[in-house]
Amino acid sequence: MIRISQPAFLEDTAESVLAVLRSGQLAQGTVVREFENAFARYVGVRHAVACNSGTSALFLALLAHGIGPGDEVITSAFTFIATINAILYVGATPRLVDVDGSFNLDPAQVQAAITPNTKAVLPVYLYGQMAEMAELDDIAHRHNLVIIEDACQAHGAAYDGKFAGTFGSGCFSFYATKNMTTGEGGMLTTNEDEIADRARRLLNHGMQKRYQYRELGYNLRLTEIAAAIGIKQLARLDAMNRLRQENARYFDDHLINIRGLVLPRVLPRRTHVYHQYTLRLLPEFALTRAQFINALDACGIGSAIYYPQPVYEYPYLRDNAWARVRLTEAEMLSQQVVSIPAHPALDSGDREKIVETIRAIAG
Ligand SMILES: *Cc1c(COP(=O)(O)O)cnc(C)c1O
Repeated sequence: MIRISQPAFLEDTAESVLAVLRSGQLAQGTVVREFENAFARYVGVRHAVACNSGTSALFLALLAHGIGPGDEVITSAFTFIATINAILYVGATPRLVDVDGSFNLDPAQVQAAITPNTKAVLPVYLYGQMAEMAELDDIAHRHNLVIIEDACQAHGAAYDGKFAGTFGSGCFSFYATKNMTTGEGGMLTTNEDEIADRARRLLNHGMQKRYQYRELGYNLRLTEIAAAIGIKQLARLDAMNRLRQENARYFDDHLINIRGLVLPRVLPRRTHVYHQYTLRLLPEFALTRAQFINALDACGIGSAIYYPQPVYEYPYLRDNAWARVRLTEAEMLSQQVVSIPAHPALDSGDREKIVETIRAIAG
Protein backbone atom coordinates (compact mmCIF):
# COMPACT_ATOMS: atom_id res chain seq x y z
CA MET A 1 0.00 0.00 0.00
CA ILE A 2 1.27 3.47 -0.88
CA ARG A 3 0.18 5.49 2.12
CA ILE A 4 -1.16 9.02 1.90
CA SER A 5 1.51 10.12 4.37
CA GLN A 6 4.57 8.52 5.86
CA PRO A 7 7.25 9.94 8.16
CA ALA A 8 10.82 9.85 6.82
CA PHE A 9 13.73 9.35 9.26
CA LEU A 10 17.40 8.54 8.98
CA GLU A 11 19.20 6.25 11.42
CA ASP A 12 20.93 9.19 13.13
CA THR A 13 17.54 10.16 14.59
CA ALA A 14 17.51 6.97 16.64
CA GLU A 15 21.00 7.85 17.92
CA SER A 16 19.83 11.29 19.03
CA VAL A 17 16.82 9.85 20.83
CA LEU A 18 19.01 7.28 22.59
CA ALA A 19 21.41 10.01 23.65
CA VAL A 20 18.54 11.87 25.34
CA LEU A 21 17.32 8.69 27.05
CA ARG A 22 20.83 7.93 28.29
CA SER A 23 21.28 11.49 29.56
CA GLY A 24 18.46 11.01 32.07
CA GLN A 25 17.07 14.50 31.29
CA LEU A 26 13.80 13.87 29.46
CA ALA A 27 12.12 17.24 29.98
CA GLN A 28 13.05 20.92 30.30
CA GLY A 29 16.67 20.49 29.30
CA THR A 30 18.92 21.92 26.64
CA VAL A 31 17.65 19.93 23.65
CA VAL A 32 14.32 21.76 23.49
CA ARG A 33 16.20 25.07 23.61
CA GLU A 34 18.53 23.88 20.85
CA PHE A 35 15.55 22.89 18.70
CA GLU A 36 13.90 26.28 19.30
CA ASN A 37 17.06 28.14 18.31
CA ALA A 38 17.50 26.09 15.16
CA PHE A 39 13.85 26.58 14.19
CA ALA A 40 14.00 30.35 14.78
CA ARG A 41 17.14 30.56 12.62
CA TYR A 42 15.53 28.49 9.87
CA VAL A 43 12.33 30.55 9.73
CA GLY A 44 14.14 33.84 10.23
CA VAL A 45 12.52 35.13 13.41
CA ARG A 46 13.77 36.28 16.81
CA HIS A 47 11.92 33.63 18.81
CA ALA A 48 10.64 30.10 18.44
CA VAL A 49 8.74 28.61 21.39
CA ALA A 50 8.34 24.84 21.43
CA CYS A 51 5.13 23.24 22.66
CA ASN A 52 3.37 19.90 22.49
CA SER A 53 1.16 20.35 19.38
CA GLY A 54 0.13 22.68 16.61
CA THR A 55 -3.18 23.15 18.39
CA SER A 56 -1.26 24.29 21.49
CA ALA A 57 0.77 26.72 19.36
CA LEU A 58 -2.46 28.29 18.06
CA PHE A 59 -3.95 28.41 21.56
CA LEU A 60 -0.77 30.00 22.99
CA ALA A 61 -0.56 32.56 20.17
CA LEU A 62 -4.14 33.68 20.79
CA LEU A 63 -3.66 33.77 24.57
CA ALA A 64 -0.33 35.58 24.37
CA HIS A 65 -1.97 38.29 22.25
CA GLY A 66 -4.66 38.67 24.88
CA ILE A 67 -7.45 37.54 22.57
CA GLY A 68 -10.50 36.36 24.46
CA PRO A 69 -14.25 36.73 25.01
CA GLY A 70 -15.83 39.46 22.86
CA ASP A 71 -12.98 39.39 20.35
CA GLU A 72 -13.44 38.18 16.80
CA VAL A 73 -10.88 36.21 14.83
CA ILE A 74 -11.29 36.06 11.07
CA THR A 75 -10.36 32.68 9.65
CA SER A 76 -11.10 30.14 6.95
CA ALA A 77 -14.12 27.86 6.97
CA PHE A 78 -12.13 25.33 4.92
CA THR A 79 -9.61 24.07 7.46
CA PHE A 80 -8.77 21.43 10.02
CA ILE A 81 -11.00 21.60 13.07
CA ALA A 82 -8.11 22.53 15.41
CA THR A 83 -7.94 26.03 13.87
CA ILE A 84 -11.45 26.73 15.11
CA ASN A 85 -11.13 24.88 18.40
CA ALA A 86 -8.13 27.02 19.42
CA ILE A 87 -10.21 30.17 18.91
CA LEU A 88 -13.01 28.66 21.01
CA TYR A 89 -10.59 27.63 23.82
CA VAL A 90 -9.78 31.29 24.49
CA GLY A 91 -13.47 32.25 24.37
CA ALA A 92 -13.15 34.33 21.20
CA THR A 93 -15.55 34.19 18.25
CA PRO A 94 -14.51 32.74 14.89
CA ARG A 95 -15.58 34.92 11.97
CA LEU A 96 -15.61 32.45 9.10
CA VAL A 97 -14.93 33.60 5.57
CA ASP A 98 -14.56 31.84 2.25
CA VAL A 99 -11.45 30.74 0.39
CA ASP A 100 -10.11 31.64 -3.05
CA GLY A 101 -8.59 29.45 -5.80
CA SER A 102 -5.53 28.73 -3.65
CA PHE A 103 -7.75 27.10 -0.98
CA ASN A 104 -6.73 30.01 1.27
CA LEU A 105 -8.46 33.00 2.86
CA ASP A 106 -9.85 35.41 0.28
CA PRO A 107 -8.50 38.88 1.23
CA ALA A 108 -11.57 40.71 -0.14
CA GLN A 109 -13.79 38.68 2.17
CA VAL A 110 -11.46 39.23 5.10
CA GLN A 111 -11.76 42.97 4.52
CA ALA A 112 -15.55 42.72 4.39
CA ALA A 113 -15.74 40.72 7.63
CA ILE A 114 -13.94 43.26 9.81
CA THR A 115 -15.99 44.74 12.66
CA PRO A 116 -15.00 46.91 15.66
CA ASN A 117 -14.50 43.64 17.59
CA THR A 118 -12.04 42.09 15.15
CA LYS A 119 -8.68 41.48 16.81
CA ALA A 120 -6.90 39.02 14.55
CA VAL A 121 -6.81 37.49 11.13
CA LEU A 122 -5.81 33.85 11.09
CA PRO A 123 -4.85 32.58 7.63
CA VAL A 124 -4.42 28.81 7.21
CA TYR A 125 -1.74 27.86 4.70
CA LEU A 126 -3.68 24.91 3.42
CA TYR A 127 -1.82 22.01 1.77
CA GLY A 128 1.52 23.88 2.04
CA GLN A 129 0.88 27.07 0.10
CA MET A 130 0.69 30.48 1.74
CA ALA A 131 -2.23 32.88 1.44
CA GLU A 132 -2.16 36.23 -0.41
CA MET A 133 0.03 37.73 2.31
CA ALA A 134 0.77 41.12 0.73
CA GLU A 135 -2.94 41.91 0.85
CA LEU A 136 -3.60 40.32 4.23
CA ASP A 137 -0.61 42.13 5.73
CA ASP A 138 -1.89 45.40 4.33
CA ILE A 139 -5.40 44.82 5.71
CA ALA A 140 -3.97 43.86 9.11
CA HIS A 141 -1.85 47.01 9.28
CA ARG A 142 -4.67 49.32 8.23
CA HIS A 143 -7.06 47.88 10.81
CA ASN A 144 -4.53 47.24 13.56
CA LEU A 145 -5.11 43.48 13.55
CA VAL A 146 -2.79 40.75 14.75
CA ILE A 147 -1.82 38.10 12.19
CA ILE A 148 -1.77 34.57 13.56
CA GLU A 149 -0.55 32.13 10.94
CA ASP A 150 -1.80 28.56 10.94
CA ALA A 151 1.38 27.23 9.33
CA CYS A 152 0.74 23.68 10.55
CA GLN A 153 0.95 22.45 6.94
CA ALA A 154 3.56 24.93 5.72
CA HIS A 155 7.03 24.33 7.21
CA GLY A 156 9.39 25.96 4.72
CA ALA A 157 6.66 27.53 2.57
CA ALA A 158 7.34 31.13 1.53
CA TYR A 159 5.77 34.26 0.08
CA ASP A 160 8.17 36.61 -1.73
CA GLY A 161 10.94 34.55 -0.15
CA LYS A 162 9.63 35.29 3.36
CA PHE A 163 8.96 32.10 5.26
CA ALA A 164 5.68 31.06 6.81
CA GLY A 165 5.88 32.11 10.44
CA THR A 166 7.43 35.53 9.80
CA PHE A 167 4.26 37.52 9.04
CA GLY A 168 2.91 37.49 12.58
CA SER A 169 2.74 34.75 15.16
CA GLY A 170 3.48 31.51 13.29
CA CYS A 171 1.96 28.26 14.52
CA PHE A 172 3.51 24.97 13.41
CA SER A 173 2.61 21.33 14.04
CA PHE A 174 4.99 18.41 14.17
CA TYR A 175 2.27 15.76 14.11
CA ALA A 176 3.23 12.48 12.44
CA THR A 177 1.80 13.36 9.00
CA LYS A 178 3.32 16.85 8.63
CA ASN A 179 6.29 17.93 6.48
CA MET A 180 8.48 17.46 9.55
CA THR A 181 7.47 15.54 12.64
CA THR A 182 8.29 14.76 16.25
CA GLY A 183 5.31 12.39 16.61
CA GLU A 184 3.36 15.11 18.40
CA GLY A 185 4.73 18.60 18.82
CA GLY A 186 4.40 22.25 17.90
CA MET A 187 6.21 25.58 17.62
CA LEU A 188 5.23 29.22 17.91
CA THR A 189 7.38 31.76 16.03
CA THR A 190 7.40 35.51 16.64
CA ASN A 191 9.59 38.60 16.43
CA GLU A 192 7.91 40.11 19.49
CA ASP A 193 9.78 39.60 22.75
CA GLU A 194 6.66 39.95 24.95
CA ILE A 195 4.70 37.41 22.94
CA ALA A 196 7.50 34.87 23.22
CA ASP A 197 7.92 35.52 26.96
CA ARG A 198 4.21 35.29 27.62
CA ALA A 199 3.86 32.07 25.59
CA ARG A 200 6.82 30.50 27.40
CA ARG A 201 5.24 31.34 30.74
CA LEU A 202 1.76 30.11 29.79
CA LEU A 203 2.98 26.77 28.47
CA ASN A 204 4.83 26.11 31.73
CA HIS A 205 2.08 26.54 34.38
CA GLY A 206 2.26 30.33 34.15
CA MET A 207 5.50 30.18 36.10
CA GLN A 208 7.50 33.41 36.19
CA LYS A 209 10.35 32.25 38.38
CA ARG A 210 10.47 29.06 40.35
CA TYR A 211 7.07 28.76 42.08
CA GLN A 212 6.01 32.28 41.21
CA TYR A 213 2.70 32.13 39.38
CA ARG A 214 1.03 35.29 38.16
CA GLU A 215 -1.71 33.84 35.99
CA LEU A 216 -3.51 30.65 35.04
CA GLY A 217 -1.01 28.54 33.15
CA TYR A 218 -0.92 25.20 31.40
CA ASN A 219 1.45 22.34 30.78
CA LEU A 220 1.96 22.33 27.02
CA ARG A 221 5.67 21.50 27.02
CA LEU A 222 7.55 19.56 24.39
CA THR A 223 9.79 16.73 25.63
CA GLU A 224 13.55 16.52 25.11
CA ILE A 225 12.95 13.27 23.22
CA ALA A 226 10.64 14.97 20.75
CA ALA A 227 13.03 17.91 20.38
CA ALA A 228 15.88 15.55 19.53
CA ILE A 229 13.77 14.13 16.71
CA GLY A 230 12.81 17.65 15.65
CA ILE A 231 16.42 18.81 15.31
CA LYS A 232 17.14 15.97 12.88
CA GLN A 233 13.91 16.54 10.97
CA LEU A 234 14.58 20.25 10.62
CA ALA A 235 18.04 19.56 9.22
CA ARG A 236 16.37 17.53 6.45
CA LEU A 237 13.31 19.72 5.94
CA ASP A 238 14.52 21.45 2.77
CA ALA A 239 15.61 18.16 1.23
CA MET A 240 12.28 16.53 2.11
CA ASN A 241 10.33 19.51 0.76
CA ARG A 242 12.34 19.32 -2.49
CA LEU A 243 11.28 15.68 -2.85
CA ARG A 244 7.65 16.71 -2.33
CA GLN A 245 8.08 19.42 -4.98
CA GLU A 246 9.64 16.93 -7.41
CA ASN A 247 6.77 14.52 -6.87
CA ALA A 248 4.32 17.37 -7.44
CA ARG A 249 6.08 18.41 -10.65
CA TYR A 250 5.90 14.81 -11.88
CA PHE A 251 2.15 14.72 -11.21
CA ASP A 252 1.73 18.14 -12.83
CA ASP A 253 3.44 16.85 -15.97
CA HIS A 254 1.74 13.47 -16.14
CA LEU A 255 -1.80 14.16 -14.96
CA ILE A 256 -2.59 17.05 -17.27
CA ASN A 257 -5.41 16.98 -19.78
CA ILE A 258 -7.63 14.54 -17.95
CA ARG A 259 -11.24 15.54 -18.35
CA GLY A 260 -12.71 16.92 -15.11
CA LEU A 261 -9.44 16.68 -13.16
CA VAL A 262 -8.07 19.98 -11.79
CA LEU A 263 -4.45 20.00 -10.62
CA PRO A 264 -3.20 22.22 -7.78
CA ARG A 265 -1.94 25.65 -8.85
CA VAL A 266 1.11 27.42 -7.55
CA LEU A 267 0.22 31.07 -7.28
CA PRO A 268 2.58 34.00 -7.96
CA ARG A 269 5.18 34.89 -5.31
CA ARG A 270 4.76 31.57 -3.53
CA THR A 271 6.93 28.57 -2.67
CA HIS A 272 4.58 25.60 -2.26
CA VAL A 273 5.81 22.78 0.00
CA TYR A 274 3.04 20.32 -0.91
CA HIS A 275 2.01 19.10 2.49
CA GLN A 276 -0.71 17.64 0.28
CA TYR A 277 -1.03 17.30 -3.46
CA THR A 278 -4.72 17.94 -3.81
CA LEU A 279 -6.82 17.27 -6.88
CA ARG A 280 -10.29 18.54 -7.62
CA LEU A 281 -12.72 16.19 -9.33
CA LEU A 282 -15.31 18.12 -11.32
CA PRO A 283 -18.70 16.61 -12.26
CA GLU A 284 -17.41 15.76 -15.76
CA PHE A 285 -14.69 13.50 -14.33
CA ALA A 286 -15.23 9.83 -15.25
CA LEU A 287 -15.98 8.71 -11.67
CA THR A 288 -17.51 10.11 -8.54
CA ARG A 289 -15.04 10.97 -5.80
CA ALA A 290 -16.08 7.93 -3.74
CA GLN A 291 -15.56 5.67 -6.77
CA PHE A 292 -12.18 7.28 -7.47
CA ILE A 293 -11.01 6.71 -3.88
CA ASN A 294 -12.20 3.10 -3.94
CA ALA A 295 -10.51 2.45 -7.27
CA LEU A 296 -7.21 3.87 -5.96
CA ASP A 297 -7.55 1.84 -2.79
CA ALA A 298 -8.14 -1.35 -4.79
CA CYS A 299 -4.83 -0.68 -6.55
CA GLY A 300 -2.98 -0.15 -3.28
CA ILE A 301 -2.89 3.64 -3.37
CA GLY A 302 -3.98 5.62 -0.34
CA SER A 303 -5.79 8.93 -0.70
CA ALA A 304 -7.71 11.25 1.61
CA ILE A 305 -10.26 14.05 1.72
CA TYR A 306 -9.04 17.20 3.48
CA TYR A 307 -11.66 18.32 4.42
CA PRO A 308 -15.06 16.75 3.77
CA GLN A 309 -17.10 19.71 5.00
CA PRO A 310 -16.69 23.36 5.98
CA VAL A 311 -16.17 23.66 9.73
CA TYR A 312 -19.54 25.36 10.31
CA GLU A 313 -21.37 22.14 9.36
CA TYR A 314 -19.99 20.08 12.26
CA PRO A 315 -22.85 19.18 14.60
CA TYR A 316 -21.24 20.51 17.79
CA LEU A 317 -20.60 23.89 16.14
CA ARG A 318 -23.49 24.52 13.83
CA ASP A 319 -25.89 25.97 16.39
CA ASN A 320 -23.61 28.91 17.11
CA ALA A 321 -24.65 32.24 15.64
CA TRP A 322 -21.21 32.61 14.00
CA ALA A 323 -21.66 29.22 12.31
CA ARG A 324 -24.81 30.32 10.47
CA VAL A 325 -23.02 31.07 7.23
CA ARG A 326 -23.03 29.49 3.78
CA LEU A 327 -19.73 29.83 1.94
CA THR A 328 -20.01 28.61 -1.62
CA GLU A 329 -16.33 27.98 -2.44
CA ALA A 330 -15.73 26.06 0.79
CA GLU A 331 -18.86 23.97 0.23
CA MET A 332 -17.95 23.23 -3.38
CA LEU A 333 -14.30 22.40 -2.65
CA SER A 334 -15.20 20.13 0.25
CA GLN A 335 -17.19 18.05 -2.26
CA GLN A 336 -14.43 18.02 -4.92
CA VAL A 337 -11.04 17.66 -3.24
CA VAL A 338 -8.98 14.52 -2.89
CA SER A 339 -5.31 14.33 -1.94
CA ILE A 340 -2.92 11.74 -3.36
CA PRO A 341 0.45 10.67 -1.89
CA ALA A 342 3.31 13.13 -2.58
CA HIS A 343 5.44 12.54 0.53
CA PRO A 344 9.23 12.13 0.40
CA ALA A 345 9.13 8.36 0.95
CA LEU A 346 7.60 7.77 -2.51
CA ASP A 347 10.00 6.21 -4.99
CA SER A 348 9.86 6.65 -8.76
CA GLY A 349 7.99 3.34 -9.11
CA ASP A 350 5.32 4.59 -6.70
CA ARG A 351 4.94 7.81 -8.66
CA GLU A 352 4.60 5.96 -11.96
CA LYS A 353 2.05 3.60 -10.45
CA ILE A 354 -0.02 6.51 -9.13
CA VAL A 355 -0.03 8.24 -12.51
CA GLU A 356 -0.75 5.10 -14.52
CA THR A 357 -3.54 4.10 -12.15
CA ILE A 358 -5.22 7.49 -12.29
CA ARG A 359 -4.92 7.66 -16.10
CA ALA A 360 -6.42 4.18 -16.37
CA ILE A 361 -9.25 4.99 -13.94
CA ALA A 362 -10.05 8.20 -15.80
CA GLY A 363 -10.45 6.17 -18.99
C1 LIG B 1 -2.26 19.58 11.91
C2 LIG B 1 -3.00 20.86 11.91
C3 LIG B 1 -3.32 21.54 13.09
C4 LIG B 1 -3.12 20.98 14.46
O1 LIG B 1 -1.88 20.44 14.73
P1 LIG B 1 -1.75 19.30 15.86
O2 LIG B 1 -0.26 19.21 16.04
O3 LIG B 1 -2.35 18.06 15.30
O4 LIG B 1 -2.44 19.78 17.07
C5 LIG B 1 -3.92 22.77 12.99
N1 LIG B 1 -4.24 23.30 11.80
C6 LIG B 1 -3.97 22.67 10.65
C7 LIG B 1 -4.34 23.34 9.37
C8 LIG B 1 -3.36 21.43 10.66
O5 LIG B 1 -3.12 20.80 9.51
